[in-house]
Amino acid sequence: MPSGLTSDSIDIAVIGSGPHALTVITHILEKRKHLRDRIRVFDPSGRWMSQWQRQFAAYEIPHLRSPAVHHPDPHPFALRGFAERRFEEFHVPYDLPGTELFQDFCGEVIRRWGLDDHVVQGNVTEIRPVKRDSATRFDSALELGFEPGRRVTARRVIYAGGGASPNIPDWVAQAQGDYPTDALKHASQIRLAQEGVKTGDRVLIIGSGLTSGHLAIGAVSRGATVMMMARRSYYEKQFDAEPGWLGPKYLKDFWAEPSWEVRATQVKEARNGGSLTPAVLTKLRKLKAEHRVTFHEHCQIRSIVWQDDQWTVQCESGDVMQCDRIWVATGSQLNIQQHPLFASVLEHYPIEVVQGFPVLDEQLRWKGCPLYLMGGFAGLQVGPTARNLSGARMASERITAGLIHQH
Ligand SMILES: Cc1cc2nc3c(=O)[nH]c(=O)nc-3n(C[C@H](O)[C@H](O)[C@H](O)COP(=O)(O)OP(=O)(O)OC[C@H]3O[C@@H](n4cnc5c(N)ncnc54)[C@H](O)[C@@H]3O)c2cc1C
Repeated sequence: MPSGLTSDSIDIAVIGSGPHALTVITHILEKRKHLRDRIRVFDPSGRWMSQWQRQFAAYEIPHLRSPAVHHPDPHPFALRGFAERRFEEFHVPYDLPGTELFQDFCGEVIRRWGLDDHVVQGNVTEIRPVKRDSATRFDSALELGFEPGRRVTARRVIYAGGGASPNIPDWVAQAQGDYPTDALKHASQIRLAQEGVKTGDRVLIIGSGLTSGHLAIGAVSRGATVMMMARRSYYEKQFDAEPGWLGPKYLKDFWAEPSWEVRATQVKEARNGGSLTPAVLTKLRKLKAEHRVTFHEHCQIRSIVWQDDQWTVQCESGDVMQCDRIWVATGSQLNIQQHPLFASVLEHYPIEVVQGFPVLDEQLRWKGCPLYLMGGFAGLQVGPTARNLSGARMASERITAGLIHQH
């Protein structure tokens, strides 16, 4: 374990051990190597990248959606270099890294930057500002609370915990009947290999994003027939957001935009809900031609009733359908005001919040306290790709600049 400062007071605490956390730490170490032993990472799993690996395994995702230059190392071509003898693991088009290749590479990044033992098991339940206090050696600091009752004081904190909560439609809570738990699930609870899907099962999948596509392909491969339902049309898009959002093409105007409201709207519009990649949509159309998948577009559920060992689904249009399982893949939402972790910071250091996004400074720092945010919460500065690997790099450059300046 890195020494930190003392066991209960550390210099840099990072909340979360996913790709964003790894990216920001490599960027900091690239500029200030000596900080390595002053950084501590907290995650309930106690290990790196657990959530990422869980999701890719759960949905049996063969490769990333983003090209090979996007990864947690500061050097854009590091993944290509690592893959010297594994070029067949890049997928067309745009050299999308295979899941295993990417995970092996992240393992190499962790080893090369000496971060194997940096993750401490712990779920942060509270972030509380502490002003100048004789008990700490810091002018201002943040106290992190863990269950049961453990506390750690950090001179600065980087939040890399994702922070989105699942979008769950109202009809889910109003489901009628005494249904078995595996008959109605949110995507975040699904592990394809463990669902027990069998030949002839009828699975209704709600949502138009890539996750719904992966789930449909996984269910069909186990012999199920799938009904895909969305309140909009299914449409194809190679990436989550246009590549113009990775550089000055779109970001120049975005950064020049003085209204946070306009920026927030641009972030949401650029992501435009969920989309399928052309490869996945092509596969689903093929399955449709084989009568294994049907598409139900512009369709919304009014109610679901479990009766006679099956769901009866009533749609707003008046259509009625029957199925054995319903999987809800309706994405997630971000709202800093509704995230319990930030309640105390918001109370002590109120900042403007626009459409759920906090207004941070250019280095992604919370005004008045040593808290930096990355991921979706950095959307007003980083733009629509803030949640993605590319956004992690952009956020890391800003946070590193802020930390070094503050040091
Ligand atoms: C299925 C899927 C595939 C994706 N594919 C791509 C892709 O190919 N390319 C791309 O650019 N983006 C992709 N994304 C989007 C994005 O890059 C990922 O969601 C990525 O995992 C985000 O990284 P992260 O570090 O912010 O979050 P996560 O990987 O979710 O890691 C956050 C970690 O923080 C921990 N945490 C949260 N709260 C706390 C707390 N209070 N205390 C301690 N720890 C906490 C969590 O347990 C978790 O381990 C994908 C997303 C999904 C869901």
